[in-house]
Amino acid sequence: MENKKSGFLKVKCECGNEQVIFGKLASEVKCTKCDAVIGQPTGGKAAISAEIVETY
Ligand SMILES: [Zn+2]
Repeated sequence: MENKKSGFLKVKCECGNEQVIFGKLASEVKCTKCDAVIGQPTGGKAAISAEIVETY
């Protein structure tokens, strides 16, 4: 129903922590729990290295 590519992503890190990040990243995003890098900007779309649980 909604555009899946325009908003936020809920991602799940290997450590089990879930957090919501923006689909287009301006800078590197790290897990708030274990400090692993879960998202990197790639000049447009974000490269997500964690499991994407949900998109908004
Ligand atoms: Zn983590």
